[in-house]
Amino acid sequence: MSNPNYNPFDNARAQFDHAADLLDLDQSTRDLLRQHRQEIHFTLPVKMDDGTTKIFKAFRMIHNDARGPAKGGIRFHPNETVDTVRALSMWMTWKCAVVDIPLGGAKGGIICDPRTMSLNEQERLCRAYIRRLHSMVGRHTDVPAPDVMTNGQHMMWILDEYETITGQRTPGMITGKPVGLGGSLGRTEATGFGVVFCLRECLKVLDINMYKTTASIQGFGNVAEYTARKYTELGGRVICVSCWNAADKVAYTFRKLDGCDPAELASIKDSYGSIDKEKAIALGYEVLPGDAWLSEDVDILIPAALENQITPDVFPQISKQVKIICEAANGPTTPDCDPLIQEAGIMLIPDFLSNAGGVTCSYFEQVQGNMNYYWSKQEVLDKLEVVMDNAFHNVFDLAQKKNIYMRDAAYMVAIERVVNAVKTRGWV
Ligand code: GLU
Repeated sequence: MSNPNYNPFDNARAQFDHAADLLDLDQSTRDLLRQHRQEIHFTLPVKMDDGTTKIFKAFRMIHNDARGPAKGGIRFHPNETVDTVRALSMWMTWKCAVVDIPLGGAKGGIICDPRTMSLNEQERLCRAYIRRLHSMVGRHTDVPAPDVMTNGQHMMWILDEYETITGQRTPGMITGKPVGLGGSLGRTEATGFGVVFCLRECLKVLDINMYKTTASIQGFGNVAEYTARKYTELGGRVICVSCWNAADKVAYTFRKLDGCDPAELASIKDSYGSIDKEKAIALGYEVLPGDAWLSEDVDILIPAALENQITPDVFPQISKQVKIICEAANGPTTPDCDPLIQEAGIMLIPDFLSNAGGVTCSYFEQVQGNMNYYWSKQEVLDKLEVVMDNAFHNVFDLAQKKNIYMRDAAYMVAIERVVNAVKTRGWV
């Protein structure tokens, strides 16, 4: 669960302000980029299965679209807030820019808990959402995608309602569609695999052999699962995985010192990433408190759940053995913790760089959709690898050259590209 003591949008702005100082950005450009181009807040009345009507709060925000149509997922979460969506849409702008794909930043969210809703209720919610938004999204304006607790099925309900309203088949209005219905092979794996491509490059430059490394992961949703799978396939050892337990409504850390088997864990989790405790015990996993993942003696920490998990309060719990924090979630580290990570000499692979594989594959989905010709999974993943490797080295080289923190270097690369677009367009 996200830490309520921190506001993600304050964090996103603090990170931006710091990078803007390093870049010596002029005031008008700062004013433009600290704000959103468009914010939509609305309520959705939805008929529930029991005959009552429930009112859901929903949002869609475009942070910046100077580099291309705005792009970003739709989150379903009971703790969703206006400022979470604001922060996430701003991070999408930097994410698309750091991997140099021609897209801007957006994000949507609905305050709801799909774990307690039937599929029919979720379908009505998705259709209601796009009925309100249909005139403001589209392949040339703003293109949604899946995010926390949404998937290809939600995208298809949204697309179907949109196409019913517009009277055309326009699969390019949304990405993350199921394979065979305009989706790209490799989209499911893309974010997690992208995380590991960055991590692998990072280990190379640090001259560390992946085979000798261990990792601890927070989360076991789609991103965490495919991060764990790829990391294990490349020879790393996942010591533990921490995740929310739906039955007990608390988080647990599942540990196996000789290495967790990601496929085995995936076979005992539900579709929201909650691992079945009894089945894990039967398979020989130790069950520890939810925050135990953070203090494990490992080389790599991979926060792959929600925002505000690594804070100055918990930082002392991190083992001295940790060499890399590889952020797979969006915004898992608070800005007041960055100086501590830097002082401790821990290498950071910042979120909007390491988790950009998902949106990169969304971009590939758009490209394939435009051609109406679909690549093999291997082609998609090979192209993804090239984009992620290049992006990592671009950021790492700048960090080396200027002797700066990796998050600052990633921001500098991304902001410069966006600034170039807004200036060339004549916005500032
Ligand atoms: N929700 C993903 C992210 O945060 C993917 C967004 C997209 O594909 O547009 O990067």
